[in-house]
Amino acid sequence: MRALRLDFDARRLAVTDHADPAPPGTGEVRLRLVECGVCGTDRGVAEFEFGAPPTGERGLILGHEAVAVVDGVGSGVTRLRTGQLVVPLVRRNCGPGCAMCRRGRRDNCLTGDYVERGIFGLHGYLCEFAVDHEDDLVQVPAELTDVAVLVEPASVVEKAWELALRLHPGEPRRVLVLGAGPIGILAAWYARSCGFDVTVLSRESADSARAKLLTANGIHYTGTLDGLSADIVIEACGSATLAVESMSVLRRLGVVILLGARPAEVRLPCLDMIIGNHILAASVNASFHHFELAVARLRGYERAWLNPLLHRLPLAQAAETILHPPGAAVKIVHRISD
Ligand code: BGC
Repeated sequence: MRALRLDFDARRLAVTDHADPAPPGTGEVRLRLVECGVCGTDRGVAEFEFGAPPTGERGLILGHEAVAVVDGVGSGVTRLRTGQLVVPLVRRNCGPGCAMCRRGRRDNCLTGDYVERGIFGLHGYLCEFAVDHEDDLVQVPAELTDVAVLVEPASVVEKAWELALRLHPGEPRRVLVLGAGPIGILAAWYARSCGFDVTVLSRESADSARAKLLTANGIHYTGTLDGLSADIVIEACGSATLAVESMSVLRRLGVVILLGARPAEVRLPCLDMIIGNHILAASVNASFHHFELAVARLRGYERAWLNPLLHRLPLAQAAETILHPPGAAVKIVHRISD
Protein backbone atom coordinates (compact mmCIF):
# COMPACT_ATOMS: atom_id res chain seq x y z
CA MET A 1 0.00 0.00 0.00
CA ARG A 2 0.99 3.68 -0.24
CA ALA A 3 1.96 5.29 3.07
CA LEU A 4 3.55 8.47 4.38
CA ARG A 5 6.59 7.09 6.16
CA LEU A 6 9.09 8.90 8.37
CA ASP A 7 12.47 7.20 8.06
CA PHE A 8 14.43 7.57 11.33
CA ASP A 9 17.74 6.49 9.69
CA ALA A 10 17.66 8.55 6.49
CA ARG A 11 15.76 11.28 8.42
CA ARG A 12 13.38 11.64 5.53
CA LEU A 13 9.61 11.90 5.16
CA ALA A 14 8.07 10.54 1.95
CA VAL A 15 5.10 8.67 0.50
CA THR A 16 6.42 5.19 -0.28
CA ASP A 17 5.27 1.58 -0.66
CA HIS A 18 4.69 -0.17 2.63
CA ALA A 19 3.56 -3.70 3.53
CA ASP A 20 -0.19 -4.06 4.08
CA PRO A 21 -1.14 -4.68 7.73
CA ALA A 22 -1.62 -8.29 8.85
CA PRO A 23 -5.23 -9.54 8.58
CA PRO A 24 -7.49 -8.62 11.51
CA GLY A 25 -7.28 -10.92 14.55
CA THR A 26 -9.91 -11.60 17.20
CA GLY A 27 -11.91 -8.47 17.97
CA GLU A 28 -10.12 -6.52 15.22
CA VAL A 29 -11.29 -4.96 11.98
CA ARG A 30 -9.51 -3.95 8.82
CA LEU A 31 -9.91 -0.29 7.85
CA ARG A 32 -9.80 1.38 4.45
CA LEU A 33 -8.65 4.91 5.14
CA VAL A 34 -10.78 7.62 3.54
CA GLU A 35 -8.88 10.69 4.69
CA CYS A 36 -6.54 11.93 7.38
CA GLY A 37 -5.92 15.45 8.68
CA VAL A 38 -2.52 16.82 9.69
CA CYS A 39 -1.57 19.10 12.59
CA GLY A 40 1.35 20.60 14.48
CA THR A 41 1.98 17.29 16.25
CA ASP A 42 2.75 15.65 12.88
CA ARG A 43 5.26 18.41 12.15
CA GLY A 44 6.89 17.92 15.57
CA VAL A 45 7.27 14.20 14.83
CA ALA A 46 8.50 14.84 11.26
CA GLU A 47 11.13 17.22 12.64
CA PHE A 48 12.22 14.55 15.18
CA GLU A 49 11.26 16.67 18.21
CA PHE A 50 9.30 13.74 19.65
CA GLY A 51 7.73 10.48 18.49
CA ALA A 52 9.10 6.99 17.87
CA PRO A 53 8.71 4.16 15.36
CA PRO A 54 7.19 0.81 16.43
CA THR A 55 9.58 -1.38 18.45
CA GLY A 56 12.09 -3.07 16.13
CA GLU A 57 11.33 -0.78 13.16
CA ARG A 58 13.11 2.31 11.85
CA GLY A 59 10.15 3.93 10.13
CA LEU A 60 6.82 5.36 11.30
CA ILE A 61 3.69 5.92 9.24
CA LEU A 62 2.40 9.34 10.35
CA GLY A 63 -1.20 10.52 10.76
CA HIS A 64 -3.63 10.34 13.68
CA GLU A 65 -6.69 12.39 12.61
CA ALA A 66 -8.29 9.64 10.55
CA VAL A 67 -11.60 8.76 8.97
CA ALA A 68 -12.01 5.19 7.73
CA VAL A 69 -14.50 2.62 6.52
CA VAL A 70 -14.57 -0.89 7.99
CA ASP A 71 -13.77 -3.25 5.10
CA GLY A 72 -13.20 -6.54 6.90
CA VAL A 73 -13.96 -7.95 10.34
CA GLY A 74 -12.06 -10.54 12.37
CA SER A 75 -13.66 -13.16 14.59
CA GLY A 76 -15.48 -12.04 17.71
CA VAL A 77 -16.27 -8.55 16.43
CA THR A 78 -19.67 -7.60 17.81
CA ARG A 79 -20.12 -3.84 17.49
CA LEU A 80 -18.91 -3.03 13.95
CA ARG A 81 -19.91 -4.17 10.47
CA THR A 82 -18.33 -3.88 7.04
CA GLY A 83 -19.13 -0.52 5.45
CA GLN A 84 -19.42 1.45 8.69
CA LEU A 85 -17.71 4.82 9.01
CA VAL A 86 -15.35 5.13 12.00
CA VAL A 87 -12.81 7.46 13.59
CA PRO A 88 -9.99 5.78 15.56
CA LEU A 89 -8.77 6.85 18.99
CA VAL A 90 -5.12 7.93 18.95
CA ARG A 91 -3.79 6.40 22.17
CA ARG A 92 -3.61 2.72 23.17
CA ASN A 93 -3.46 1.47 26.78
CA CYS A 94 -0.11 1.15 28.59
CA GLY A 95 1.36 -2.39 28.98
CA PRO A 96 -0.64 -4.31 31.57
CA GLY A 97 -2.86 -1.26 32.01
CA CYS A 98 -2.63 1.24 34.87
CA ALA A 99 -5.70 2.13 36.91
CA MET A 100 -6.67 4.93 34.49
CA CYS A 101 -6.14 2.86 31.32
CA ARG A 102 -8.17 0.03 32.84
CA ARG A 103 -10.95 2.50 33.61
CA GLY A 104 -11.15 3.60 29.96
CA ARG A 105 -9.16 6.79 30.58
CA ARG A 106 -5.95 6.03 28.72
CA ASP A 107 -5.84 9.76 27.90
CA ASN A 108 -4.95 10.16 31.60
CA CYS A 109 -2.52 7.19 31.63
CA LEU A 110 -0.51 7.09 34.86
CA THR A 111 2.61 5.29 33.63
CA GLY A 112 3.38 7.14 30.39
CA ASP A 113 3.99 3.73 28.77
CA TYR A 114 1.09 4.17 26.34
CA VAL A 115 1.57 4.15 22.57
CA GLU A 116 -0.10 6.50 20.08
CA ARG A 117 -0.94 5.81 16.45
CA GLY A 118 1.22 7.87 14.13
CA ILE A 119 3.15 9.44 17.04
CA PHE A 120 4.68 7.08 19.64
CA GLY A 121 5.45 3.47 18.75
CA LEU A 122 2.52 2.59 16.44
CA HIS A 123 1.95 3.25 12.76
CA GLY A 124 -0.57 5.95 11.93
CA TYR A 125 -3.20 6.44 9.28
CA LEU A 126 -1.68 8.38 6.37
CA CYS A 127 -1.84 5.12 4.41
CA GLU A 128 -4.40 2.99 2.58
CA PHE A 129 -5.18 0.27 5.14
CA ALA A 130 -4.91 -0.29 8.88
CA VAL A 131 -6.09 -2.81 11.47
CA ASP A 132 -7.56 -1.81 14.83
CA HIS A 133 -9.43 -3.40 17.70
CA GLU A 134 -13.10 -2.49 17.51
CA ASP A 135 -12.89 -0.98 21.01
CA ASP A 136 -10.54 1.69 19.65
CA LEU A 137 -12.98 2.85 16.97
CA VAL A 138 -15.76 5.40 17.36
CA GLN A 139 -18.72 5.02 15.01
CA VAL A 140 -19.65 8.09 13.01
CA PRO A 141 -23.00 8.50 11.20
CA ALA A 142 -22.64 8.53 7.41
CA GLU A 143 -24.16 12.03 7.26
CA LEU A 144 -20.96 13.34 8.91
CA THR A 145 -18.61 11.76 6.34
CA ASP A 146 -17.41 15.12 4.97
CA VAL A 147 -16.55 16.59 8.41
CA ALA A 148 -15.62 13.46 10.40
CA VAL A 149 -11.94 14.37 10.07
CA LEU A 150 -12.64 17.07 12.68
CA VAL A 151 -13.76 14.51 15.28
CA GLU A 152 -10.25 13.91 16.66
CA PRO A 153 -9.33 17.61 17.14
CA ALA A 154 -12.85 18.24 18.47
CA SER A 155 -12.37 15.43 21.02
CA VAL A 156 -9.30 17.25 22.39
CA VAL A 157 -11.49 20.38 22.73
CA GLU A 158 -14.22 18.40 24.53
CA LYS A 159 -11.73 17.15 27.12
CA ALA A 160 -10.20 20.60 27.58
CA TRP A 161 -13.60 22.22 28.17
CA GLU A 162 -14.69 19.50 30.57
CA LEU A 163 -11.50 20.20 32.57
CA ALA A 164 -11.88 24.00 32.48
CA LEU A 165 -15.48 23.89 33.69
CA ARG A 166 -14.64 21.41 36.43
CA LEU A 167 -11.71 23.51 37.67
CA HIS A 168 -13.47 26.88 37.74
CA PRO A 169 -15.20 27.07 41.13
CA GLY A 170 -17.38 30.10 40.29
CA GLU A 171 -19.62 31.20 37.47
CA PRO A 172 -17.38 31.83 34.47
CA ARG A 173 -18.76 34.20 31.82
CA ARG A 174 -15.84 35.42 29.71
CA VAL A 175 -13.63 33.18 27.65
CA LEU A 176 -10.39 34.01 25.86
CA VAL A 177 -9.03 31.57 23.28
CA LEU A 178 -5.43 32.04 22.17
CA GLY A 179 -4.95 31.00 18.53
CA ALA A 180 -7.23 30.65 15.51
CA GLY A 181 -6.10 27.25 14.24
CA PRO A 182 -8.58 24.34 14.13
CA ILE A 183 -8.37 23.71 17.90
CA GLY A 184 -8.75 27.42 18.70
CA ILE A 185 -11.74 27.80 16.38
CA LEU A 186 -13.43 24.63 17.70
CA ALA A 187 -12.76 25.72 21.31
CA ALA A 188 -14.28 29.15 20.62
CA TRP A 189 -17.37 27.70 18.93
CA TYR A 190 -17.84 25.34 21.88
CA ALA A 191 -17.71 28.27 24.32
CA ARG A 192 -20.07 30.35 22.21
CA SER A 193 -22.59 27.50 21.96
CA CYS A 194 -22.51 27.35 25.78
CA GLY A 195 -23.47 31.05 25.89
CA PHE A 196 -20.09 32.46 27.01
CA ASP A 197 -18.81 35.86 25.92
CA VAL A 198 -15.88 34.71 23.75
CA THR A 199 -12.83 36.48 22.35
CA VAL A 200 -10.19 34.88 20.14
CA LEU A 201 -6.73 36.44 20.11
CA SER A 202 -4.63 35.58 17.07
CA ARG A 203 -2.12 37.13 14.71
CA GLU A 204 -4.15 36.88 11.45
CA SER A 205 -5.68 40.19 10.39
CA ALA A 206 -9.26 40.93 11.41
CA ASP A 207 -10.43 40.59 7.79
CA SER A 208 -8.84 37.13 7.33
CA ALA A 209 -11.06 34.14 6.54
CA ARG A 210 -10.35 32.68 9.98
CA ALA A 211 -11.37 35.84 11.80
CA LYS A 212 -14.59 35.97 9.78
CA LEU A 213 -15.46 32.37 10.71
CA LEU A 214 -15.41 33.57 14.31
CA THR A 215 -17.00 37.01 14.10
CA ALA A 216 -19.85 35.60 11.95
CA ASN A 217 -20.67 33.43 14.97
CA GLY A 218 -20.77 36.28 17.48
CA ILE A 219 -17.17 35.81 18.69
CA HIS A 220 -14.92 38.84 19.25
CA TYR A 221 -11.59 38.84 17.49
CA THR A 222 -8.46 40.74 18.53
CA GLY A 223 -4.70 40.85 18.08
CA THR A 224 -3.85 42.10 21.56
CA LEU A 225 -4.64 41.51 25.23
CA ASP A 226 -5.45 45.23 25.70
CA GLY A 227 -8.80 45.81 27.33
CA LEU A 228 -9.60 42.10 27.78
CA SER A 229 -10.69 40.20 30.85
CA ALA A 230 -11.35 36.46 31.08
CA ASP A 231 -12.54 33.77 33.47
CA ILE A 232 -11.23 30.93 31.30
CA VAL A 233 -8.32 31.04 28.85
CA ILE A 234 -7.77 28.18 26.39
CA GLU A 235 -4.27 28.22 24.91
CA ALA A 236 -4.25 26.81 21.38
CA CYS A 237 -1.48 28.90 19.83
CA GLY A 238 1.68 27.04 20.83
CA SER A 239 3.10 29.94 22.84
CA ALA A 240 3.80 29.50 26.56
CA THR A 241 4.84 33.15 26.68
CA LEU A 242 1.45 34.36 25.45
CA ALA A 243 -0.33 31.91 27.74
CA VAL A 244 1.46 33.35 30.77
CA GLU A 245 0.97 36.94 29.54
CA SER A 246 -2.75 36.20 29.28
CA MET A 247 -2.82 35.60 33.04
CA SER A 248 -2.63 39.39 33.43
CA VAL A 249 -6.25 39.59 32.17
CA LEU A 250 -7.50 36.66 34.25
CA ARG A 251 -10.27 37.49 36.70
CA ARG A 252 -10.42 36.01 40.19
CA LEU A 253 -10.83 32.19 40.19
CA GLY A 254 -9.68 32.20 36.56
CA VAL A 255 -8.46 29.03 34.83
CA VAL A 256 -5.90 28.72 32.02
CA ILE A 257 -5.75 25.46 30.06
CA LEU A 258 -2.62 24.74 28.01
CA LEU A 259 -3.19 22.63 24.91
CA GLY A 260 -0.30 23.32 22.57
CA ALA A 261 2.34 25.49 24.29
CA ARG A 262 5.88 24.54 23.28
CA PRO A 263 8.60 24.39 25.94
CA ALA A 264 9.78 27.88 26.87
CA GLU A 265 11.21 29.68 29.87
CA VAL A 266 8.43 31.73 31.37
CA ARG A 267 8.06 33.67 34.63
CA LEU A 268 4.88 32.78 36.45
CA PRO A 269 3.09 35.67 38.19
CA CYS A 270 2.89 33.58 41.36
CA LEU A 271 1.74 36.31 43.74
CA ASP A 272 -1.11 37.38 41.42
CA MET A 273 -2.00 33.72 40.92
CA ILE A 274 -2.24 33.11 44.65
CA ILE A 275 -4.19 36.28 45.37
CA GLY A 276 -6.52 35.57 42.44
CA ASN A 277 -7.02 31.85 43.22
CA HIS A 278 -5.86 31.19 39.66
CA ILE A 279 -5.41 27.71 38.18
CA LEU A 280 -2.94 26.87 35.40
CA ALA A 281 -3.63 23.40 33.98
CA ALA A 282 -2.90 21.36 30.86
CA SER A 283 -4.66 18.67 28.86
CA VAL A 284 -3.70 16.10 26.23
CA ASN A 285 -5.47 13.47 24.15
CA ALA A 286 -9.10 12.41 24.77
CA SER A 287 -11.16 9.41 25.87
CA PHE A 288 -13.73 7.39 23.90
CA HIS A 289 -16.42 9.44 25.64
CA HIS A 290 -14.91 12.74 24.40
CA PHE A 291 -14.84 11.36 20.85
CA GLU A 292 -18.54 10.54 21.14
CA LEU A 293 -19.25 14.03 22.50
CA ALA A 294 -17.28 15.48 19.57
CA VAL A 295 -19.40 13.52 17.08
CA ALA A 296 -22.59 14.86 18.70
CA ARG A 297 -21.29 18.44 18.77
CA LEU A 298 -20.17 18.40 15.12
CA ARG A 299 -23.64 17.18 14.23
CA GLY A 300 -25.04 20.39 15.72
CA TYR A 301 -22.74 22.71 13.74
CA GLU A 302 -23.73 24.04 10.34
CA ARG A 303 -21.79 22.93 7.28
CA ALA A 304 -21.38 26.61 6.38
CA TRP A 305 -19.10 26.92 9.43
CA LEU A 306 -17.31 23.59 9.11
CA ASN A 307 -16.59 23.31 5.39
CA PRO A 308 -14.38 26.42 5.13
CA LEU A 309 -12.08 24.88 7.77
CA LEU A 310 -11.11 21.99 5.52
CA HIS A 311 -8.70 22.06 2.60
CA ARG A 312 -8.28 18.71 0.85
CA LEU A 313 -5.17 17.54 -0.99
CA PRO A 314 -4.00 14.13 -2.27
CA LEU A 315 -1.95 11.77 -0.06
CA ALA A 316 0.99 12.29 -2.44
CA GLN A 317 1.42 15.84 -1.08
CA ALA A 318 1.41 14.89 2.61
CA ALA A 319 5.19 15.20 3.21
CA GLU A 320 5.16 18.70 1.75
CA THR A 321 2.14 19.94 3.75
CA ILE A 322 3.45 18.56 7.05
CA LEU A 323 6.90 20.10 6.68
CA HIS A 324 5.73 23.35 5.02
CA PRO A 325 2.09 23.97 5.99
CA PRO A 326 0.38 26.36 3.56
CA GLY A 327 -0.42 29.43 5.67
CA ALA A 328 -3.94 30.28 4.57
CA ALA A 329 -5.55 26.84 5.04
CA VAL A 330 -7.02 26.11 8.47
CA LYS A 331 -6.95 22.29 8.38
CA ILE A 332 -5.14 20.32 5.68
CA VAL A 333 -6.79 16.96 5.01
CA HIS A 334 -5.24 14.31 2.79
CA ARG A 335 -7.64 12.27 0.67
CA ILE A 336 -6.76 8.60 0.55
CA SER A 337 -9.75 6.82 -1.02
CA ASP A 338 -13.34 7.55 -2.06
C1 BGC B 1 -3.23 14.48 19.54
C2 BGC B 1 -3.34 13.77 20.85
C3 BGC B 1 -2.00 13.24 21.27
C4 BGC B 1 -1.01 14.39 21.30
C5 BGC B 1 0.38 14.04 21.80
C6 BGC B 1 -2.14 15.53 19.59
O1 BGC B 1 -2.00 16.11 18.33
O2 BGC B 1 -4.44 15.13 19.23
O3 BGC B 1 -4.26 12.73 20.75
O4 BGC B 1 -2.11 12.65 22.54
O5 BGC B 1 -0.94 14.95 20.01
O6 BGC B 1 0.97 12.97 21.19
